Formats: sequence, structure tokens, C-alpha cells
Amino acid sequence: MTMKNSSILLIYTGGTIGMMEDVATGALIPFDFGNLIDYVPELRRFKFDIDIVAFETPIDSSDVSLHTWKEIARLIEVNYNHFDGFVVLHGTDTMAYSASALGFMLQGLSKPVIFTGSQLPIGKLRTDGKENLITSIEIAAATRNGEPVVQEVAVYFESQLFRGNRTHKYNTENFDAFESANFSCLAEVGIHITFHYHRMWRSDKKELEVQYGLDNSVGVLKIFPGMNMAIVNGILHAKDLKALVLETFGSGNAPRHKEFTEAIAEAIEKGIVVVNISQCNKGFVEQGRYETSSALLKSGVIGGGDMTTEAAVTKLMYLLGQGHSGIELKNLFATPLRGELTVSSDLLGVD
Ligand code: ASP
Repeated sequence: MTMKNSSILLIYTGGTIGMMEDVATGALIPFDFGNLIDYVPELRRFKFDIDIVAFETPIDSSDVSLHTWKEIARLIEVNYNHFDGFVVLHGTDTMAYSASALGFMLQGLSKPVIFTGSQLPIGKLRTDGKENLITSIEIAAATRNGEPVVQEVAVYFESQLFRGNRTHKYNTENFDAFESANFSCLAEVGIHITFHYHRMWRSDKKELEVQYGLDNSVGVLKIFPGMNMAIVNGILHAKDLKALVLETFGSGNAPRHKEFTEAIAEAIEKGIVVVNISQCNKGFVEQGRYETSSALLKSGVIGGGDMTTEAAVTKLMYLLGQGHSGIELKNLFATPLRGELTVSSDLLGVD
């Protein structure tokens, strides 16, 4: 592995990592990311080139939109041939959605795109941001046999590198904000960076082709005992709805009463694609295992396997945005496109 003469582009979108404490008031305020080197002088010690582009108006990641994803994709596309790797600095709250979305949009990616951020601002003494940033840069620059080690969209946080579309923010307090419950990490960081090469995703295509088409006609319905069917029907009859992520119990189960099962079946008959994602973070949907998921299976709900809600929502936006519909959309949803879904024998993808 060599780490010399690499060039890395940092893309700063916003979030806690780019904040500092106002000494007078103690309030958190954004700092000028162009002056990052003042806060992280360690960056000078890297032997490779680091450039920074920052959003003109940094955003809290709760304000991320399709426009944000397109802007990140555009920055990667226009700089793709000039840099060996990309580090995207992003708020943690919706990082799992953004990393999933970018993974789908960056078709044919063969360079690292590492999302990172922090729980404490980089301008705070105890920040986790410095380590996250420095290690993300090292990972983005890492090569093996002349090739980038990572050739996919990943999330680096608190000593672990995860496939982006497998992540979920599960912790608001500790530094390990993310989990990847159904797919083991791509790298572990201690004294050494230990890459798990056999888990890395490789695209068949090697030419980057950014897919900007995204369609947000997607809904999420998290089911719970005692749901009011008027509210459920309100969602199912929403004018724009083309695809619905049904967040179910356990291994894909839902209430069996007719009003619910018929409402779902009717929606599918009308052409809405309904997919089944478990509310449990670990494990997978297996429709038909219990009586309580048989009706969903019969009516044509698509099992989402071990996909996260974040991956399912963004995959549907991506597939709809590419103009897919009907059976083609259903088949593509059930196919792993960027390693977001485990199929066949290694059902859980955890070894
Ligand atoms: N609210 C912030 C954001 O997601 C939290 C963070 O940066 O971690 O932008």
C-alpha cells in the first residue's frame, strides 16, 4: 500500500464538523472552511495535495434535499479526473441518506468517496472531527496494486469505515454515531488501518456516469399497533405517490385485518410499488415466514431483504428518476445495485 502523491478533494457541505465555539457567548457558529488548516494544522503533514471546496452556504444536514445530492455529485463529476479521492464533510443527521443516494447516482465509480462529520465541532477541544477528517483523508488516498482500495461511497466514523448505503445513524450521544447492522465494516482503524478487501464493492463499469435523475414521489409508512386507517388511506391515496416503503414489524410482518391488507393490495393494483423494510435494524425481511406477512406477499409487496430505510428510499428515488416502473422497477429494487442488499446464501452479509 502506498500513500504518496495523492490528491484529495474535501467537499464541505455543512454540519457540526465545520463549527467552532464563540469564545464570548459559547454558542456554536460556523467557521470559514477555507481556513480549515488553522484548525487542523496536522493537514500540512500529509505528503499529498488537499484541496477544499465549500458550499457557499453550509447547511445543517436536516436541510439536505435532492438539490444538495445533485450538487455533491456535480462537484465530484467536474473534479473526477483531477483527484484520486473525495472526502465529503456532512452533518451526521442525514448522512446515511446522502451516502446512499450518492452511491446510486455515481454509476461506474472507481474512486473513493468518503463521507464523514463529527459529533463535536472541530473548533472544540474534545472534538472527534479531527480524527474523522484525518483518517478519512488517509483512507481516500490509500492504494493497493496501483488502484484505490475503496472504490465506492463509504462513511467513516469513529474508527470504522462502512459501506455508505448500509449505514444508519443510531446514536446521538456517543462518538460512534453510525451502525451498519447487516454488513460488516470495510475497514477498522486502530494503530493500523485494517482494510477488509474482500468486502469492498467493485463496479462492473469503470467510467463514471453520474445519474442526476431523481424522483421523490416516494412515501414511508411506519406501521404500529392501532393505526388509524383513515390516516393510512390518506397516505396511500396521496396524489404524487408512486412508491411506498412500508416499515414493518420483525421479519416483515403487518396487521392482518382486511381494511389494511385490502388497502395495500388496492394501492398495488393502482400501480404503486410497495416495498417491505423491517423496523428492526438487524436481520432481513422474509415475507411468508409468518401468516402476518403472507397477505403482503400475495398482494405483490416487494421484500426489501436487509436493506435500510435510507437505502430503500433513495434507491426508489433513483429508480423512479431513471424512468423505471412496474415489473422492471420491482426487479431492480430486489437486485443489489451497489452492495446495498444481501442476497442468497450469505443472507446477512455478516462474517
Ligand atoms: N444537526 C447536525 C447536522 O446533521 C448534526 C451533525 O452535524 O452531526 O447537520
